[in-house]
Amino acid sequence: MSEKHIELIMAPPEPHFVGDGFRVHTFIPSSYRVDMHRTNPFIMMDYNSKHYFSPTQTPRGVGVHPHRGFETVTIAYKGRVAHHDSSGGGGVIGEGDVQWMTAASGVLHKEYHEEKFSQEGGEFQMVQLWVNLPAKDKMSNPKYQAISNDKMARIPVGDNSDSFIELIAGSYNGVSGPADTFTPLHMSNAKLKAGTSAKYAFPDSHSTCLVAIEGNITVNGSSVNQDHFCLFDRKGEEFEIKADTDAIVLVLSGEPIPEPIAAHGPFVMNSRDELVQAFNDFNEGKFGELAD
Ligand code: MN
Repeated sequence: MSEKHIELIMAPPEPHFVGDGFRVHTFIPSSYRVDMHRTNPFIMMDYNSKHYFSPTQTPRGVGVHPHRGFETVTIAYKGRVAHHDSSGGGGVIGEGDVQWMTAASGVLHKEYHEEKFSQEGGEFQMVQLWVNLPAKDKMSNPKYQAISNDKMARIPVGDNSDSFIELIAGSYNGVSGPADTFTPLHMSNAKLKAGTSAKYAFPDSHSTCLVAIEGNITVNGSSVNQDHFCLFDRKGEEFEIKADTDAIVLVLSGEPIPEPIAAHGPFVMNSRDELVQAFNDFNEGKFGELAD
């Protein structure tokens, strides 16, 4: 196996608001060489870097909207997110938890700051990813996986017993994570004490990237600062993350889905006709019902 080089390190782009509750930097797609084909099956990544929200009686968030053709994965690092969808799924995720919603044939959902968090205010930090589905699964039934932090596999790394890989999906050193996925992919958080290193190996055909969620790290000898995104070259398999300070690093790697992508707004399909169908089905109320 050979070293996997870094293709680019990106500072967080200007943030924008999604609804009034999510102040995000969009890393995927971004204007600079990172489009959804390059990072497929990860076709969208919004990163809410640490942001203080003041107390409010009316929870901030984003109202009812549809999705079809992919999965939304929300990883909460700070604060709490409440979520409801038209298939009856929903719940609250807190610090360290993940909600994995398979929109597939279509759901309506809404995403808000949890009520008590809203009333108290506080620091909020999260990632939302869109994971593409293969054509054969795009119209399967919606489902919802609530992956609380205690369900994640923890694999110790280095000599420091406080450093570990927290596995959400895929595998690390032969251990598997809890999420059911439609295509082979890896999703984990490295939680590393300063001075600790973690090694990774992924197939060279997979799309691989990371985000320094907390702290500063060195990746194969290059510095990656807090809140920066790092995309790896396809060539090579192995890389090493060294924590320069105590650090949390989101690591993603997945097999690209070798199909055309037709994306518009909240729908990600294979063809324009399927997008038109999605809009028609949505307008005809075929995505179910969900109250504001
Ligand atoms: Mn959504």
